[in-house]
Amino acid sequence: MTYDFSNIFAKILSGAIPCHKVHEDDATLAFMDVMPQAPGHTLVIPKVPSRNLLDADPAVLARLFPVVQKIAVAAKDAFGADGVRIIQFNEAAAGQTVFHLHIHVIPIVEGAGLKPHTGKMEDGAVLAAHAEKIRRALRT
Ligand code: 5GP
Repeated sequence: MTYDFSNIFAKILSGAIPCHKVHEDDATLAFMDVMPQAPGHTLVIPKVPSRNLLDADPAVLARLFPVVQKIAVAAKDAFGADGVRIIQFNEAAAGQTVFHLHIHVIPIVEGAGLKPHTGKMEDGAVLAAHAEKIRRALRT
């Protein structure tokens, strides 16, 4: 399996298509999932191309996971969540639909339930407000 440079997250990284950015550093980008399973659903990706966890350089993962942790803590605070679910799919058979490594960070509010994976597109204004809430939590 090879990396497809035309995947949607490669286009987000190149700036060809927009995203609601939560955090960026030299190695990673975090942004809102357009079809959130719960409010605050964020994706964290490495800037270096890899299809998924199976072909990723361990050094890339070592930069990625501290950011996943930071976003998880901020998203939990921002949305008053009771927990955070971290999800990551590898290959279509396992549910992967975008073939650039990404980690789902989903704040979980007890009893609220989750929408389906790749369900309904959220309104842009809602995603912008949610990104701002997480950015604010990251600053505190
Ligand atoms: P996967 O199934 O590959 O783990 O998840 C891909 C995720 O990317 C899905 O949750 C889907 O909602 C999200 N997604 C798909 N296209 C876009 C897009 O253009 N922008 C953003 N921000 N998220 C996307």
